[in-house]
Parts: sequence; structure tokens; C-alpha cells
Amino acid sequence: MRDKAPRFIEVALPLPLFQTFTYAVEEGLANPVVVGSRVVVPLRSGKEIGVCIGVSDVSPLKRKPKAVLESPDAEPAIGASLLELCRWMADYYIVPLGVVLRTVLPAALTGAEDPRPTRKTRRLVKLGADIPSLLQRDKSFARSKQQRAVFELVESLGGNTSLENLSAQLDFSPSVLKSLEKRGLIVIEEEEVERDPFSSRGGISSTRLEPTPAQLHAIDTMASATKGDVFLLHGITGSGKTLVYIELLRRIVDERGQTAIVLVPEIALTPQTVDRFRAAFGDRIAVLHSALSEGERYDAWLALKRGDKRIVVGARSAVFAPLENLGAIIVDEEHESSYKQGETPRYHAREVAIVRAKNEGAITVLGSATPSLESWANASSGKYKLLTLPERVGGGRLPSVDVIDLRRIPTDYNAMAQGGVDYGAVIREPLHDAIVETMSRGEQTILLLNRRGYSSFIQCVDCGAVATCPNCSITLTHHRNPERLVCHYCLHKEDPRPDCVRCGGRYLRQRGLGTQQVERLLSERFPAARIARMDVDTTSGKWAHTRILDRVAAGEVDILLGTQMIAKGLDFPNVTLVGVVDADVGINFPDFRASERCFQLLSQVSGRAGRGAKGGRVLIQTRLPGHHAVRYAVAHDYVSFVREEMEGRVDPPYPPNVRIANIVFSGLVEDSVAKFAIHAGEWLRELIATRAEDEVTVVGPAPCPIERIKNRWRWHVLLKSAHPGELTRVSRYFMERFEVPNTAQLRVTLDRDPVALL
Ligand code: ADP
Ligand code: ZN
Repeated sequence: MRDKAPRFIEVALPLPLFQTFTYAVEEGLANPVVVGSRVVVPLRSGKEIGVCIGVSDVSPLKRKPKAVLESPDAEPAIGASLLELCRWMADYYIVPLGVVLRTVLPAALTGAEDPRPTRKTRRLVKLGADIPSLLQRDKSFARSKQQRAVFELVESLGGNTSLENLSAQLDFSPSVLKSLEKRGLIVIEEEEVERDPFSSRGGISSTRLEPTPAQLHAIDTMASATKGDVFLLHGITGSGKTLVYIELLRRIVDERGQTAIVLVPEIALTPQTVDRFRAAFGDRIAVLHSALSEGERYDAWLALKRGDKRIVVGARSAVFAPLENLGAIIVDEEHESSYKQGETPRYHAREVAIVRAKNEGAITVLGSATPSLESWANASSGKYKLLTLPERVGGGRLPSVDVIDLRRIPTDYNAMAQGGVDYGAVIREPLHDAIVETMSRGEQTILLLNRRGYSSFIQCVDCGAVATCPNCSITLTHHRNPERLVCHYCLHKEDPRPDCVRCGGRYLRQRGLGTQQVERLLSERFPAARIARMDVDTTSGKWAHTRILDRVAAGEVDILLGTQMIAKGLDFPNVTLVGVVDADVGINFPDFRASERCFQLLSQVSGRAGRGAKGGRVLIQTRLPGHHAVRYAVAHDYVSFVREEMEGRVDPPYPPNVRIANIVFSGLVEDSVAKFAIHAGEWLRELIATRAEDEVTVVGPAPCPIERIKNRWRWHVLLKSAHPGELTRVSRYFMERFEVPNTAQLRVTLDRDPVALL
């Protein structure tokens, strides 16, 4: 406790304003106010929770500042080093400090309202004992189309889903459910909500593995590193990166008594990695995941702050865990774009991790089989230290990868025009044969198709018109069960029409395959196979994906079909075949990272094959076998891919050859947005000319590749510079000074180091 309280404090508030506020501290507050304390302050006619970021004996204001109303913290909510990190984020990402602080602190500390009461049970809808066969259905549901829709939706969700999920996917009245229940077609049960699935997951073998010489070399090097070092651990798929992390943490946490942060792309999709950490460190670990209630999150936060837990495993935001005496931050699968937050503050957890580790004298470990080009460039220039695990552990070999050229055999357009796609056009013979063989040996297959829904769009055969979203410039995706067209950006839904909106034509053709359709084709072809589909539509609750993966691990699934979700670090030794149904999805996106993403996805999914003694193979169906992303993925040649890809980013320059900030202008009226963006472009060019900041280039303005999202028209301007400092200065000046007119809901956002320009 200080003997004398500061008289004035500087407060950061979570407002979209680049300024802080001065308040007076008067006697009678519950706790002393120091830097890092939360304070409740009067703001206009209301109150706001802010954080004290500075104290002073004199006020910078002419008028008398208002007084702090409450000081709830006996200990500052945020320590000096995390506050320093927040200041860096505010500066680098051009975001008000108060907005950054709100992101960094647990919601329970910044929400003005009480944390939502926790729900303990949920209602589960299951199929009843008697399921009418497909032939009986027309009769059985003759007078109740809605009942049939609900029934078939439950059926398509694996016969078991939450009421919440059902209602989210389909509009129906409560009486429909009651009738179905009365007829015994469904059963409704109360289910205990699993609050923390990790606390109830079964015990996992904790046999300690002996590191291989390559692993040991990496561990030793990192354990004897200098504070602030950044390592890029480039280990091929199956090279045992997780063991390296674990053994490194044993030294840092167990031997030196320090703490550590482990970031994974998404907890629900990486249960095996989390299990391995839990097996090694038991209850010294806090697992932060999205199913935690605000209260539980806060408890975990306190346990970390007090030092009761010394390791945190979590997604992006775990980088802000309030640990003291930090020894290491590990970023697993560092190339994953989920490390970038899609809303303000648009931070990249990998970059934040590096800055935090440097500030606090810790090391950073970035691990991947397919590092981002940014990290690779930094390793090549010596800024990061490169460590390599060039081989699979235990003498395992990378799977052989073969291409099936989809151009060779013509697609069956006749069948497609009739509304269906022929199985043989989708799963070509070599892939089909491989699936049959794999199943006959009792082994498992993973099939990747990075497009969800039934078919990607519906097109009129006569005039070529495609069904598009009324709010976005995006084609609608056709979904079945329930049958409808869905916009994947704004979630707009509509019933499919029998005729073309433009010309009234009666022949509509489904184009482009989605996972739902492939699932149907597979189950028709392999009626006895146990097929599991995994994409964002198959979630019934937060842990549905984890459950599917657990079933695969237990050998209860023959074919796992899914989108990029299934390519994240899974380690199933009985998966001996990986098939890519269509490698070209996304490869032609108008985005500078499209090829990089495609290469990463193909390499990562290939890496799921042959992780056991039985070996494995990969078959990739593509129309672009010559594309460098496909060619080098087939050859397992990361380095050559990077060399070629890097050349493509020289002229015009794109990261990592240059740093960029994407400024997006949006609003309700197309014309105003265009004018606004054009004006901003001129403003920026003038600014750069007068201030002689010729180290920053302005590109655009131009309409965004997706011109309209959620009713908002979008234009953008790119700022490019080889000098991050210059980019910060110009960006900040623009965001602080450029005036946004008060019409047509015009808005400006700035995305520093964007992961996509769509
Ligand atoms: P990566 O993340 O590099 O793809 P994993 O960490 O998933 O690889 O490891 C692949 C498999 O090898 C896992 O099943 C793991 O238990 C096993 N493994 C890792 N290191 C060793 C080792 N030193 N000895 C035996 N098995 C190992
Ligand atoms: Zn839309």
C-alpha cells in the first residue's frame, strides 16, 4: 500500500476513441488505485469500467476532473508486463488501449453486467426406437411435412442432437416436436451439460517416451537458449513435435520453476495434443476453451495469476494468460490462420507471443510442418533460429502421394443436369479401389473436401444465372436436411426455388460438390461402412467434433470425411489412406495467400496418413496437377514450394517481402462507399507526398474481392511498406485524423498484417 494515494489518474476506457481520460481519486475508496487497477468512473450520464494506466499529482485538465466512483481491485487486475504488451498492441494494431485491455482481461472483469447464469442441463433430441423406412415415409408423414423435416434433420445429425442446435438449423413450432415425441419417433431427454469435458476425459497413457536424437538436439538447444530467442521448429508431419514441447516444458517448468503458455489452433479440434500435455503435467495445467462459462474462465485466470497452475493450454487468447515468471510460449501449428483475430483488435497471436516473450525474458517456439512464409523468411534471415526434425519418429516414412488428374475423364454433365452427380465422377476409380482395399484390411480412410454444404451453387442451365445472397455478393450454398440455400457469410437462408429468378427457366443445375453430397454418395456406395462427416454443420454442441475424433481414435469409424477441420494435427496410426476429393477448392481465390493455404492444407492432410507401422498412401484428385501448390505437396517439398511462392510475391510485393495494412471502407450505399474510399485514397497519397513518407505505398482504392457482406458495400486501400515503423505512423495518422462522414453508416477498419484480403 502507498502512504499517499495519487490525486489524479489516467484511465483507458473501452471506447472507439484514441484518447485516455483523467479522473480524480478521492478518499473513501475501497482499495488504493495503482497502475493496472480497474476503476469504475462516471462517463457522460452513465458509468464505465476502465483501467488505470498512469498516476500523477497534477491534472492535465483545466477544469476539475470527475472523481473515480469505485476501485474494486485489492491487487491490480493487470500486471506491469501485460500492460506493456497491451500498449504495444494498441500501438501496432492502431487500436485504442482501452479496447485492447477489454480483450486481454477476462470478460468477468470487464463486463458491466453480471456474468450470465450458468445453464446446467440442456435438452437432447434422439431418434425413437421405430424408424420408418424410406419407403414408409411418404405415407407416414403425408400430412406433416414439418415433422418429416425435423425427423430427418435429427437423423442426419447422427440421430442425436441438442434442441438448441435443431432450432438453430430449422424453424419449427414446439407442437411439431411434441407430436413426434407422442408418435415415438423421437425421444427428448434432459442432459447434464458437460462443463469441462477435459476434466472428465478418460485417463491417457502417461508412459514417458524417450526422445530421439533429433528431438533431443532441439530440446537441448531451446533449453539453453538466450532470453527472448525465437525458434522455428520445422518438423515434418509425424516427426514428434509435441514430445519436443513437452520435454522442453519439463525443463522450464519442473526444473526451473518457471511458467509456460501453449497455444493450439482450436481446442476442440486438437484433443490429442491437449491430452498429451495433460498426461505429462496433470493438474498443473489449465485448459482454456470456449465451453467454459465466464465464471469458470475467471477461476482459471485466477489460478494462473496466483501461480496455482503453471501451464496454460488454449487457443489464441491464452497468450494473455496472467502468468508470472514466464519461461516459454509455444505456438503449435504456427501457420494456422485462426491465430489471427477477425475483429478489433485484429491481433495475430503468434506476433503477440513473440513480443510478450521478449518483454518477459522468455523464449518462443513456433512449430509447424508447413511454416508460414513470414516465419520462414525470419528464420532464413537469422532473426529466428531454425530447428529441423526431418524424419518421422520410429523409422516411419512419409506416405507416397499420387495425383489423379480429373481432366482425364470427362465429368458426367448429363447426370449433373438431372440433379444428381454420379459417384464415379466424384470418387474416381483409383481412389475408390484404394478405399475398398483399405476397408478390407480393417484400416481407416480420411477424405478431405474443403467445401461444406451439398453443392456449392445452383445455376440456371438456360441463362447461367446463379442463386446469390441478397445481402452479400456471394453465391448461396445448397444444403440438404433441411433443404435450403445458405449464405456462408451472413447465414441468410432461403428455400430453393423450382425455377430461375432471372429467366424463369425450369432447368437448374447443381454445381460444385459439398461434403453433404459426398457423404450421401459414399453411404449409397458403401452401405455397411461407418462414415463420419466433420464440418461446421455437423456440430451439435461444442464438443461434437471432439467426440467424432474420439470415435475415429477408438476405431469406430471407417471413413472420416470433412473440411479442413480434419487436417489439424490428428495422429491416428490406423489411418492408412488419405484422399483429397478436390484439391482445387480455394486455389484460385483472389487472395495472395491462396496457394500457400492450398499447399499447407494438402501437406497437412497428407501428413495424417501412414503414421503407424502399416505405412500409408495419399491420393489427390485435381484439375491442376501442374500448380506449384499441388506439385510440391505431392513431393513433400516445402522448401521448393516456398522458393517458388516467394518469387510470386515480389512484383507486386506481398508479405513477407513487404508489410501491409488493409484499410476497408464499408457502408450501406454503394456510391457513398466508393466516393469515401476514393477520397481516402487521395488523402493518403497527399499525406505521403507532403510528409515525404515515400517509404509507404498506397494501392487502390478498389472494391474488395467480396464486394458486399451483410448488406454493406466494401472497398479497400492497401498500404505497403518495407518499414514497419513507417507503416505504423501513416496508419495511425490516418485512423486518428481521417474524418468519417456521418452518413450511410460509413465505417473504416484497419487490418494490420491481414491473413486474407477478401
Ligand atoms: P507431429 O506433431 O510432429 O506431427 P506428433 O507429435 O503427433 O507429431 O508425434 C507423432 C507420433 O509419434 C505420436 O504418436 C507420438 O506419440 C509419437 N512419438 C513422438 N516422439 C516419439 C519418440 N521419441 N518415441 C516414440 N514415439 C514417439
Ligand atoms: Zn449473405
